[in-house]
Amino acid sequence: MTCESNADLQEIVDEVRSIAEEGKVADYIPALSKVDKNDLSVAIYERNNKCIFAGDYKNKFTLQSISKVLILALALQDRGIDYVFDRVGMEPTGDPFNSISKLETSIPSKPLNPMINAGALAVTNMIKGESEREKWDRILQFVGCLANNKQISYDLEVANSELETAFLNRALCYFMKQHKVIHGDIEELMMLYTKQCAIEMNCFQLARIGAVFALNGLDPETGERLIPIHIARICKTFMVTCGMYNASGEFAIKVGIPAKSGVSGGILGVVPEKYGIGIFGPALDNKGNSIAGIKLLEILTKRYNFSIF
Ligand code: GLN
Repeated sequence: MTCESNADLQEIVDEVRSIAEEGKVADYIPALSKVDKNDLSVAIYERNNKCIFAGDYKNKFTLQSISKVLILALALQDRGIDYVFDRVGMEPTGDPFNSISKLETSIPSKPLNPMINAGALAVTNMIKGESEREKWDRILQFVGCLANNKQISYDLEVANSELETAFLNRALCYFMKQHKVIHGDIEELMMLYTKQCAIEMNCFQLARIGAVFALNGLDPETGERLIPIHIARICKTFMVTCGMYNASGEFAIKVGIPAKSGVSGGILGVVPEKYGIGIFGPALDNKGNSIAGIKLLEILTKRYNFSIF
């Protein structure tokens, strides 16, 4: 399965690329600040196994928050719906992804949803495995299957850079440990979480993961079931309600598809029954979403009527 360059898509990429100037690359994880702010690539994976791309689609980036939706899919398979949602809620917060404030005020004291950092840390804590190593191998194996690439790995420098600076995430963990939302060794959890966020791929592989969700959990090439249908549905719903942080409402109106972004500038998009979309554009807007990536999706949705609403 290969991905072919597409002139129409390239035209849109060229049209929106300059908006990156108005954005800013994430630097709170120091290693993320090293990228070229003007990078922009997109791949669209069609259900009939065709894939088109524009920009330098071989550029790799780390998943960051995009991993949250994949880990949720694995944790729901590992633990079941009741276990997961006893510990993490289902409501959007309207707050930034790393906010700590509602953790204290929500009753019971649990993160409001799995797409914010607190919720994602709690979900990572649910992944089954006898050791950190076994949990990590299971995560990589699952993501490798979704992307159809067993070589998928992580960027050690980005993972270490986050591990050294993730004081707020540690604070979220200790708060949740106090309230028995999570258990076990916090440093071990932080290691697993930062590695998961540093999983590296290109926009073609990300688009392929989007295609799995678009097909409600089926492998677009083999038709094999990779994610149970009810879990794929839950993941897509969270992508709509909280996938683009506290810009999810505006994104639902302007673009209207399930999507998940990460501070590396990646966006995973899903056009149900039709396409998986992978985008990489590291310049971010003030809410932490890829500024050119969102513009690109706005144009695509207008032109091709992607909105699910
Ligand atoms: N690893 C990042 C963090 O926890 C992910 C955040 C993001 O992509 N929004 O801060």
